Amino acid sequence: MSGSLLLAAGRVIDPSTNTDEVRDVLVEDGRIAAMARGIAGPDGVPRVSAEGLVVAPGLIDVHVHLREPGAEHKETIRTGAQAAAAGGFTTIWAMPNTDPPLDDPAAVGFVREEARRWARKGQGGARVSPVGAASPGLAGERMTEIGGLVEAGAVAVTDDGHPIRDSALMRRLLEYTQSFGIPVLQHAEDMALSAGGVMNEGAVATALGLRGIPNASESTIVARDIYLAELTGGHVHIQHVSTREAVELIRLARERGTRVSGEATPHHIALTEEAVRGYRTEAKMNPPLRSETDRLAVRQGLIDGVLACVATDHAPHHYEEKEREFDDAPFGIVGLETALAVCIDELVTPGDLTLSGLIERMSTAPARTMGIDGGTLRPGSPADIVVFDPESRWTVDAASFRSRSRNTPFGGWDVKGRVRRTIVAGEIRYDSGDWERS
Ligand SMILES: [Zn+2]
Repeated sequence: MSGSLLLAAGRVIDPSTNTDEVRDVLVEDGRIAAMARGIAGPDGVPRVSAEGLVVAPGLIDVHVHLREPGAEHKETIRTGAQAAAAGGFTTIWAMPNTDPPLDDPAAVGFVREEARRWARKGQGGARVSPVGAASPGLAGERMTEIGGLVEAGAVAVTDDGHPIRDSALMRRLLEYTQSFGIPVLQHAEDMALSAGGVMNEGAVATALGLRGIPNASESTIVARDIYLAELTGGHVHIQHVSTREAVELIRLARERGTRVSGEATPHHIALTEEAVRGYRTEAKMNPPLRSETDRLAVRQGLIDGVLACVATDHAPHHYEEKEREFDDAPFGIVGLETALAVCIDELVTPGDLTLSGLIERMSTAPARTMGIDGGTLRPGSPADIVVFDPESRWTVDAASFRSRSRNTPFGGWDVKGRVRRTIVAGEIRYDSGDWERS
């Protein structure tokens, strides 16, 4: 039977059902058939021992850049989806700032179909959900035909890479997206305040002689968008929150019942502006790595649930581009293949989150927040599953990434938590190949 297997005796952690105990998980025909102890399993269904390993709902990343069409030397839909599966992700959201951008139904449909085509050829990875552009050409002038984008498979809209600058356009987007039940994802940045900036504004930027981007570049837009969400009743999701002020604004707004959510990246949780010293371009991203106070606020926001989820902002760039002078190097780092381990080290090992709490923020919460399938092992759900060893230590080696790009600030880090298998719709899409079978 295809799409069927029995994962035996793993530590099943499913935040959606408050499960954290040794169980068997039976997958039939691409769906979870049962989660219980001592499942015999029908004849012909392969039995795979998960003893000593965690079995959890597959991770979901709502912020990924795949670079296809237009910059396939950095990443393709195939390599990005495979990198995601290697990182334990079963669903990723592809941002629309490709070339051309995903601003019409054909472009949106291409991304979805291309991922499915590779899966049919046995080279699939995570499921790929396209995010449509909020404005044609990401130019921020008028709204795209959102109905057509949604019909073609768009799960949200954004101009990410750029902010949605125009307040009236943002208002219309927040009004219009409600009839489709999708969020507006916002890259919150006041371009006038950040103009020319390449890192966080502060003492480190001054010492390095680099132009800074102030916290207010993010927080002023977050404040505006919160009030526009209140005006319209729409759902605004703030991408890659990097400042203490933005966390505080989201906290207060959520207490008032505003439909605002936010995401935290592993790099904003793990690193500060100090990582830029030595003009290290692998620490150049937008929004920039901030101060220690900001890092702690973002981290605490995620722990408290003010920020709903972890998202990587996986942003592949070619080696030669990142080798340029700091001022000229592109913003962004890859993150799909290091996110789980970095988050285990930063949040679970120090005792601030349980493993279940982390899986909640990397799977169950993004599904719930965005209103999509996934994030659960409840019988009847799609069999999207990650199997990982939470204790296995490994050293990050960018050369071994499935991603076509290597731009990571975590190279050489000794981390804990290794993905062993990633299963999408009951099909094994990633197998580390170095664990025991029965
Ligand atoms: Zn962005």
